[in-house]
Amino acid sequence: MITACAGGGPPVAVEQADRTAAPVDTTNNNNNNTNNTNTSTESTSTTSSTLAVEVDDESEMSADEPSLSVGDPLFPELGSLDVDVVSYDLRLDVEPGAPTVSGEVDVTVTLRPGLTVLPLDAVGLDIDRVAIDEVVTTSTSTESELLIDLPASVDASSGGPTTVTASIDYTFRTGGRTSAVGLPSGWITSPAGSYVLNEPDGARTWLPSNDHPSDKATWRFEVVVPEGVVVSANGELVERPDAASSGAWVWVADDPMPTYLVQMIVGDYEIVESPPATSVDGSEIPLTHVVPSGDRASFDAAIDGIDEQLRFFEELFGPYPLDRYGLAFVTDLSGLAMETHGRSMFGAGDFDSGRVGFLQELLLAHELAHQWFGNAVSPQAWDDIWLNEAFTTYAQWLWLDHVDLQPLDVHARAMLDLRQRTTESTGEPTVENMFGFERYDGGATVVHALRLTIGDDRFFEVLRRWVSDFGGTSQSTESLIGLVEAVADEDLDEFFDDWLYAGALPDSYPAS
Ligand SMILES: [Zn+2]
Repeated sequence: MITACAGGGPPVAVEQADRTAAPVDTTNNNNNNTNNTNTSTESTSTTSSTLAVEVDDESEMSADEPSLSVGDPLFPELGSLDVDVVSYDLRLDVEPGAPTVSGEVDVTVTLRPGLTVLPLDAVGLDIDRVAIDEVVTTSTSTESELLIDLPASVDASSGGPTTVTASIDYTFRTGGRTSAVGLPSGWITSPAGSYVLNEPDGARTWLPSNDHPSDKATWRFEVVVPEGVVVSANGELVERPDAASSGAWVWVADDPMPTYLVQMIVGDYEIVESPPATSVDGSEIPLTHVVPSGDRASFDAAIDGIDEQLRFFEELFGPYPLDRYGLAFVTDLSGLAMETHGRSMFGAGDFDSGRVGFLQELLLAHELAHQWFGNAVSPQAWDDIWLNEAFTTYAQWLWLDHVDLQPLDVHARAMLDLRQRTTESTGEPTVENMFGFERYDGGATVVHALRLTIGDDRFFEVLRRWVSDFGGTSQSTESLIGLVEAVADEDLDEFFDDWLYAGALPDSYPAS
């Protein structure tokens, strides 16, 4: 993710949140249906609220009680250690402008042996029906969880992990909400349609899921819409209605991805294919884009620039790591860009002049670089967010230097000067500032200092190996430090203490 003003100075995300607050209908931020229960159950609502508060004290939990956390330091309520999602198969029926959307999702999960309740993250969803492997079962909803009772037919106690498919019929209210980080999130509606912003925890407000970056899965999206309405999700478009009829749009994403990278754009758009790019490894990279209906020409310059930017980053970071790429230009999404998996999402208003200048180059470079840093290799937890943002901001610096828009050394010096005015560490964010300056330009000063410390050859070897060794997984800061020290063949504790974990940074870069 990036905000339009991130090239300046701190604070970035806060300013952005103010500017984007308008289109988000926070009146629909409705959590008052907590403790709703599946209609087929005896009332279990009184039992639910106690479960959520016990996540920090595993010693008191019996083997039968589900984990309701993966231990994320910033968002302890997200995810479950007992659940590893294999795939999501989502079907939605969307009527643009309607206050609710109904859907059904099949979540195929591998469960910890002995589990009797399957926990998923879910906030404010109305649950109509739940089944496990087609056997209807009961469930309980708390403020942040959907707890599905596993039927006796699921024998999860017989040794190894068990894989089941949970089918959930549900309804959610559209409009999105403001997340704890101060940014719009969830299913956001606008006159042109709707789109989702899931990072860091918006998916659970419209999709029952293991809503954490440590859990990657494959996806299938089937969205039924009225005639003339277009749907874009991640992956390959495998089915669409005839031009003059309503029907289902089906997108299939085989590249495993976590929930926060899901794209779901519905509205008055066109799907545009451009000639595939050719990777340095010789493979073709299909390019699929989304533009506001009837306005393709305004976005041609941005689309035409992909090849050169892709080639530049491939030479630095290794072959493009995903199946496909493309650009999605969303009406009413202003000043905020998001690295949705395999098709980055931008505000159409930031590009509809038809010109690609400094801001556009910055946004395009940042989101493309995320496909290596964040998407191929995702953060293990949200306090590893600098692994996403500092490295993509540095990639953006490299690109802006390459196209003679911003000299690297001058900008790096200026950002270190700016970093002197802040005292938040890059490596230990809080919820409030996880998308703040210390992760972006402030974080890129850490990356630049690392490059000067270990030298260009080893620095770029680290970047390439990060993706080639760990692509398709989620990794921690400790994992990166381990790789850096292995490649550099030296102990760099002091470097990371001084630059990554310190609040106040050194006032000059290491001598190269
Ligand atoms: Zn970003």
